[in-house]
Amino acid sequence: MRRWNGWGDEATVVELPVHGEAFLAELIGPGQVLADASLDQVLSQVPASRLPVHPLVSQDAEVRVRHARGQSLPDWLAMRSGEFGVFPDGVALPQTAAQIRELLAWAVQHDVILIPYGGGTSVAGHINPQASDRPVLTLSLAHMSALLEVDDDSLIATFGPGANGPQVESQLRARGYTLGHFPQSWELSTLGGWVASRSSGQQSLRYGRIEQLFAGGKVETFAGTLDIPSFPASAAGPDLREVMMGSEGRFGIISEVKVRITRLAEQENFYAVFMPNWQQALAAIRQLAQARVPLSMLRLSNAIETRTQLALAGHPQQIAWLEKYLTLRGAGDGKCMLTFGVTGNRAQNAASLKQAKRLLKGFGGVFTGTLLGKKWAENRFRFPYLRHGLWAAGYAVDTLETATDWSNVDNLLNKVEASLRDSLAAEGEPVHVFTHLSHVYGEGSSIYTTYVFRPGNSYEAAMARWRRLKHEASQTIADNRGTISHQHGVGRDHAPYLAAEKGELGMAALKALSTHFDPEQRLAPGVLLGQ
Ligand SMILES: Cc1cc2nc3c(=O)[nH]c(=O)nc-3n(C[C@H](O)[C@H](O)[C@H](O)COP(=O)(O)OP(=O)(O)OC[C@H]3O[C@@H](n4cnc5c(N)ncnc54)[C@H](O)[C@@H]3O)c2cc1C
Repeated sequence: MRRWNGWGDEATVVELPVHGEAFLAELIGPGQVLADASLDQVLSQVPASRLPVHPLVSQDAEVRVRHARGQSLPDWLAMRSGEFGVFPDGVALPQTAAQIRELLAWAVQHDVILIPYGGGTSVAGHINPQASDRPVLTLSLAHMSALLEVDDDSLIATFGPGANGPQVESQLRARGYTLGHFPQSWELSTLGGWVASRSSGQQSLRYGRIEQLFAGGKVETFAGTLDIPSFPASAAGPDLREVMMGSEGRFGIISEVKVRITRLAEQENFYAVFMPNWQQALAAIRQLAQARVPLSMLRLSNAIETRTQLALAGHPQQIAWLEKYLTLRGAGDGKCMLTFGVTGNRAQNAASLKQAKRLLKGFGGVFTGTLLGKKWAENRFRFPYLRHGLWAAGYAVDTLETATDWSNVDNLLNKVEASLRDSLAAEGEPVHVFTHLSHVYGEGSSIYTTYVFRPGNSYEAAMARWRRLKHEASQTIADNRGTISHQHGVGRDHAPYLAAEKGELGMAALKALSTHFDPEQRLAPGVLLGQ
């Protein structure tokens, strides 16, 4: 069963290894454990619903709790402290586009606010109800998850918007296909959510981001149904897919999604290479991307992330041997771990591997074979569960991400890391910060930074620390030519920084679209546009 106050399935438990805890204690001090609220305590706070009765709407208190928050750190603190603040007045679970349209009409009739809800994995405050005079209805697409049609000639599949990662892949794999979209939230996030928040999967190098995968579909809006046909390419004016991608529920409810699919590959392997230092590593992956070496995944950890990963990996004896071997081969203290994948038929993979190895060797890379790559593939969706292990040991963890041109990657990365490291200096509190680059392009890269800090002695203190950290890093991104989000979207948390990127005219154009599709501003007010 899905956890009500954290990540993923209750049956999966990932603890912090003992030496991992010692590693963090040495860096930022012993953990500070805060008491968790129980589900009963939270249920007792849920007020009576303000909605009239409707057959598609549940007013059950637990259902409302389970749809009240996403997965950002403030969401985590709310769920753990039991201080949710606001709950939706009800949760609707339509099964058809006609039922979505019925709910939209009902919302107008009863003056209701609507929050479209996919998998609830938002990390930017997208789906949290806000205090309002109008009742709030969360509209979950969970019951619209079927594969509706496959066009085998064109390799286009049509799905309900609520299909989550496993539902998408299992239905496609049964027919010999894959979508190839694997965000780390894959277990729970949905097609509609990926489109609405412009998601990027771990193998975007081969399959593309959702922008490349989303072929068309249907969107239910207060102004009618928008039908976006699929074309291989079109010069017929601005592309309406682009308008809907990243609309974050503000323009309408995506009720059908067409995606471009790929035949399952014959073979897929992942490998790890240790680069002697950051500058060599950076130059190497830039060349890999610009030479278009056909890799399916590439992830480069900086030296401190590499050290952290090795410390948290368990098996200290084996890690010590590995480190000794790497030092002998020239990858010592400042080494950076690079993981990459090849996906395709055997001949293609052999050629890609040869090309990548030759290029990386030229930059001093030490190739370690498939073992670490296999471990990465096995554990690729387990990392989010570690948040529980860290929390139980008294540490809070959060991530943030941006993207910028190659000429600015190093500068922005260093500034973001420094802003986080220094954010709590006034209270003498250290923060452990580390980064990887995991989506690389010819012209630049995403930058994904993780920060671990102690929550302090109360939930209020933890939230105040997070606010400071988040603001300092977000302002640094906005001031230094980074996008406020490469893959997590805008939601509420990034909305104050969006205008720095879009400009006044751009913001006005987005607002005009929102009022065109939703004249009474019922859909997720405050999300994306900040009002
Ligand atoms: C542990 C973890 C790891 C993550 N890793 C990644 C990653 O690797 N890559 C990545 O891109 N993201 C990642 N994310 C962020 C998140 O998973 C993505 O933003 C994802 O696309 C959200 O999908 P969802 O279905 O959960 O949407 P939700 O969180 O439910 O909603 C997100 C937004 O989309 C809107 N929305 C959802 N469905 C619809 C619909 N049918 N019609 C209209 N609007 C809709 C909502 O109103 C909301 O504004 C991660 C999150 C977590 C918690």
